[in-house]
Amino acid sequence: MRELELYVHIPFCVRKCDYCDFLSMPAAENVRRHYVDKLIAEIRQNASACYDYQISSIFFGGGTPSMLSGVQIAEIMRELRQNFKVRQTAEITLECNPGTLTGQKLALYKTAGINRLSLGLQSADNRELQRIGRIHTFEEFLESFDLARKAGFSNINVDVMSALPGQSTKDWLYTLKKVTELRPEHISAYSLMIEEGTPFYERFAEDELRRQRGEAPRDLPSEEVERRMYELTREFLTDQGYVRYEISNYAKPGRECRHNIGYWQLIPYLGLGLGSSSYLEQARFSNTRSLQEYLEGKWNDVSEILKVVKGRKETSASVGKREEPDIFLPDKRRQMEEYMFLGLRMTVGIARKTFQKLFGVEPEGVYGEKLHKLQQQGLLKQSEGRIFLTEEGISVSNYVLCEFLLEV
Ligand code: SF4
Repeated sequence: MRELELYVHIPFCVRKCDYCDFLSMPAAENVRRHYVDKLIAEIRQNASACYDYQISSIFFGGGTPSMLSGVQIAEIMRELRQNFKVRQTAEITLECNPGTLTGQKLALYKTAGINRLSLGLQSADNRELQRIGRIHTFEEFLESFDLARKAGFSNINVDVMSALPGQSTKDWLYTLKKVTELRPEHISAYSLMIEEGTPFYERFAEDELRRQRGEAPRDLPSEEVERRMYELTREFLTDQGYVRYEISNYAKPGRECRHNIGYWQLIPYLGLGLGSSSYLEQARFSNTRSLQEYLEGKWNDVSEILKVVKGRKETSASVGKREEPDIFLPDKRRQMEEYMFLGLRMTVGIARKTFQKLFGVEPEGVYGEKLHKLQQQGLLKQSEGRIFLTEEGISVSNYVLCEFLLEV
């Protein structure tokens, strides 16, 4: 039976962080209850479109899914199990934030079948946490981590963020040290992005421009410091026994996030909840981003979408075009780009054989010149039937990955 991943979006947060452009918002208890009811209705309606898939992983993302009570998460999990074929071995992750967890809640999550937690920390320095608008302190994070271990969670990710305003390499190393002392199974280490529409954009957009022009920024770390933080992350975490398996993700051997690996390997996924994206039968589509519309029941009808996709494939109509913004069916050229773009994010890279099987052509047949050039530059390597980025290639991954966009 074919494999499918589920993503469940819970868009609520206690308060918006200053750098955040995710689809998330504060909401009263009655709104959260209403949302859970609608989410359950969506699950019931759309599961039948996926009857010939088995669910290999479920990811509750947000927002802050731990804003929901243990009972609410258990209700959603029960519906997922009743309506989808969830494998016994499925990896089931819930994103949590310190300040929203209790021992009782965690025990209920565990009983509901959650077997992996992802804790948002970002920094071990309370001044930095305050500067980026987080609601919690490092001590509260420690308490949550301890509660999670006591509740029996043996697979925990911690999110940390570098290149924060005013942060030095020494500060960043301090956060890495404090986190690794806890021995979490997985660490996601991203750099701060200054996103439009956020309070940080108002404050730091000019600084970001300065940095991009190679000039010295006022508050953000310079490009050179950011690069050093990036190298430090790999050096330090490798020393501590973590293996980098993706540009920004590190795990103890065997504890890589299976759900994310699925995304990078183009395993199909169904998104449930506000604004969630899906990738099914090679088509990409997303739910409404309006909470009001979602609460009125205006989510995607996946069976109807798949009928449209089938019709388009049979007639080749609109393949590769964005005629209907809600459904995008990539043509072969775009599929190859996606495969390279996502697959090369992983340190194991892509398998030549799989590329050949999927697209009926060797990677050289499409990317011959680019592959040659990037290898000459020392940014890409080939070995044992795989193509992957070198350390140098990973450090300039934005440039390398863009090389795989094909001209129209
Ligand atoms: S907790 Fe996460 S999702 Fe919520 S506002 Fe902060 S960064 Fe955004």
